[in-house]
Amino acid sequence: MRILVVEDDALLGDAIQAGLKLAGYAVDWMKDGISADQALLTEPYAAAVLDLGLPRLSGLEVLQRLRSRGLAIPVLILTARDTVEDRIRGLDAGADDYLIKPFDMGELSARLRALIRRSSGKPAAALSAGGVELDPATHQVRYGGLPIELPAREFAVLHALMLNAGRVLSRAQIEEQLYAWGEEIESNAVEVHVHHLRRKLYTGLIETIRGVGYLIPD
Ligand code: CA
Repeated sequence: MRILVVEDDALLGDAIQAGLKLAGYAVDWMKDGISADQALLTEPYAAAVLDLGLPRLSGLEVLQRLRSRGLAIPVLILTARDTVEDRIRGLDAGADDYLIKPFDMGELSARLRALIRRSSGKPAAALSAGGVELDPATHQVRYGGLPIELPAREFAVLHALMLNAGRVLSRAQIEEQLYAWGEEIESNAVEVHVHHLRRKLYTGLIETIRGVGYLIPD
């Protein structure tokens, strides 16, 4: 899952980026509203964490532009204490949730999981398909009741496919969820991860749709 973080405070932005990476997300961190607006135009994010007080373009304007383009990506806004008007304006402009600074990283991660879950149309906390269970909160995968250890990127590929069970994802769509901006993409990475997943789980779990991509049936 790839997350956009928009925060101009260097310390806070760094802490959010580090915390979300630790939670297994690929993170792009933008420090002003214009960069955020441009990133949202081109990159497919699973969710965005958006500070409201930003240089060049306010977070509220970033949000309004995003929603006026019809993008449904879940957005969690960050606001200062004592600014209830900002929170109201943010929610009215299309934010899905908010946190007041200072906040706990664990709570930010949990709120993002909830937002991504709801936007995917899969309200249960754990995902299940083809006899495989995946818990995004604990990063645990079980097959036939047994825990299966997966490296972070294999987990991310499986998570993306299970979140979209019944829909074909192209290799590019999966890749875009694995790497943050500027990170080097290993060639054939998705094929290799799928190969390992089939070996560790079972061969028939992930179907190859020739010329299109991969699918876990619903
Ligand atoms: Ca700020």
